[in-house]
Amino acid sequence: MTVARGWQFFMHPGPTNIPHRVLQAMARPTVDFTAPEFVALRDRSLQRMKGILKTREGFVIMYAASGNGAWDASIANLFSPGDKVLVPQTGFFADRWSNTARAYGLEVEALPTPDRRPVDPEAVGRALAADTKHQIKAVMLIQNETATGIRHPIAEVRAVMNRLGHPALYLVDTISSLASYDFRMDEWGVDLVIGGSQKGLMLPPGMAFTAINPRAWAVAQTTTNTRKYWDWRPMIENGRQVQFCGTPPISHFFGLEASLDMLEEEGLENVFVRHRRLADATRACVRHWGKSGGVEIYSLDPDFASDSLTAVMVPAGHDADRVRAIAQDRYGVALGRGLGVLQGKIFRIGHMGDLNEPMVLGALAAIELALAEAGIPHASGGVEAAMDSLRAPAAARRAAVAA
Ligand SMILES: *Cc1c(COP(=O)(O)O)cnc(C)c1O
Repeated sequence: MTVARGWQFFMHPGPTNIPHRVLQAMARPTVDFTAPEFVALRDRSLQRMKGILKTREGFVIMYAASGNGAWDASIANLFSPGDKVLVPQTGFFADRWSNTARAYGLEVEALPTPDRRPVDPEAVGRALAADTKHQIKAVMLIQNETATGIRHPIAEVRAVMNRLGHPALYLVDTISSLASYDFRMDEWGVDLVIGGSQKGLMLPPGMAFTAINPRAWAVAQTTTNTRKYWDWRPMIENGRQVQFCGTPPISHFFGLEASLDMLEEEGLENVFVRHRRLADATRACVRHWGKSGGVEIYSLDPDFASDSLTAVMVPAGHDADRVRAIAQDRYGVALGRGLGVLQGKIFRIGHMGDLNEPMVLGALAAIELALAEAGIPHASGGVEAAMDSLRAPAAARRAAVAA
């Protein structure tokens, strides 16, 4: 490989770019985690996270772990061996969460979802309606399936559960959607939320969390799954976290404070608008590339294409990993690969976290060059289409946000 000059563009859908402000906040000596300074930081951060999650009823517990750890925490605390859960199959990440449940002795009912489409709330409803004995203890859904770039309808699934009066808990993984587009824990009736540090929150990997509402907390008191590291009970006092299992991720808390400051200064709703604007530009570019055949956006339903990443499918007989390799080696643009069954079929452009227009436009230009070099059929001029997308609606969008 040649010597890399200039900025490397990191366009993965997690981990994401870490802002200098977060890096600087973390670059300081450690502290005693039982001393007042850290305890105040911890309490303040956990409280502020509730604002990001839009919950008053729920509380947040942090772990030194990657997102997979929060999956384990959800399963270890909320269930007993033999319990049944319903998991709509959205892709690689839903499969992984299902496997965590199976590893703890749960029975997983996997609900098929048509390829390249969002979960149909009515299909969830049919599975719950068939469960007349209420053996399904929870519905587990990924808000943003990072493997496919498809969003799933969180509020609508809860509406169906309510209509049927089914008592299952509702668990939602927001790892690649939180702080990128809207999530409302209380309003959408989510009992347990899964989150991680290295995506929309713009931190390094290594801090994960669960948000727990009173219903989920009550259930956790009666379940019998084996738990130790993830056990909520010793960590919680009067609805707030007072302890960790071992040493807390101290430096991540310094970074989280900076990240929360940044999100607050921009305004969470403006953060969502920025993500939508960058996602719209990316999608306009990919649609242009594929206007006479060739590459296409993996999500068939434009309304459910993710605002935090775009999965791009290459035509059969072509290798998406070649585009990635050229983008990385020649242009210093890192892209996400296809996971599991999608390996080689798609590449994923992350547009989540600390990004602006020139970063996205620069990356799209390099990807267009890589497509040509890899011999993937596409129409050139995608970046112009992305610029058109950024040009036209910007004023209207700003007005809408100010209103
Ligand atoms: C990244 C991701 C995970 C896994 O998180 P890790 O930090 O890699 O363990 C889980 N769910 C979703 C939706 C993700 O995007």
